[in-house]
Amino acid sequence: MIDRLLIKTFKDNIRWIDLTDILGTPAGIIIRNDHLLENDLQKKIVDISNSQSSTIKIYRPIQKHTNRIVASTENLDIPADGIYSQSPNHLLVIRTADCIPLFIYDGRTAAVLHLGWRGIIGGIVANIKRTISQFNCADAKAVIGPGIGRCCFEVSPEVALIFDSEYRIFNDRKYYIDLETMVIDEMKKQGFRQIHSLNACTFCESDLFYSYRREGEDVRHLLSFIRAGG
Ligand SMILES: [Zn+2]
Repeated sequence: MIDRLLIKTFKDNIRWIDLTDILGTPAGIIIRNDHLLENDLQKKIVDISNSQSSTIKIYRPIQKHTNRIVASTENLDIPADGIYSQSPNHLLVIRTADCIPLFIYDGRTAAVLHLGWRGIIGGIVANIKRTISQFNCADAKAVIGPGIGRCCFEVSPEVALIFDSEYRIFNDRKYYIDLETMVIDEMKKQGFRQIHSLNACTFCESDLFYSYRREGEDVRHLLSFIRAGG
């Protein structure tokens, strides 16, 4: 369960999780806000992130469960599931509803990643170091946001067998996958030492989060954002 003290309220009763103190740079997650449209929430991200400057722009990748991480200045028409920048004017945004949002900041470069099982199996976590060559994993701060937990992430036997047995749970004739532990293990291999998990399951905590598994095709999304440079 998430620590409810992290949840703040913005104008119009917009609920969001403030990660600024944990990461040391403006970052957060706009959670379940059924009283407003997703498009209207997106328009408020700049305000919610407490970014006063009128020069700030939003950069969003086209997410397709790839293992690709791009700079905000690259061609964003090519699908990618992670985006990074060192510019304080670039507000990076991804959308999730069961996949895990991962935030990282090393004091210079900020990034946010969309982690579903395909991207994780595809090696997107290892691509942090490959793609962001100067990224300092050892001193970076990381936050693992709300995603579908091992309590609820049931998969077919075919998908289960793609994963190492340590991330597989067999319970009552069903397979479940522990994506978060796999992400943490992969991050430690890259040298990350400060990994903060919000310990939140999107499927279990239905009052706070959207979940594709629970709500189906028409599901809305959590909006995760980060910006470098305080
Ligand atoms: Zn759960």
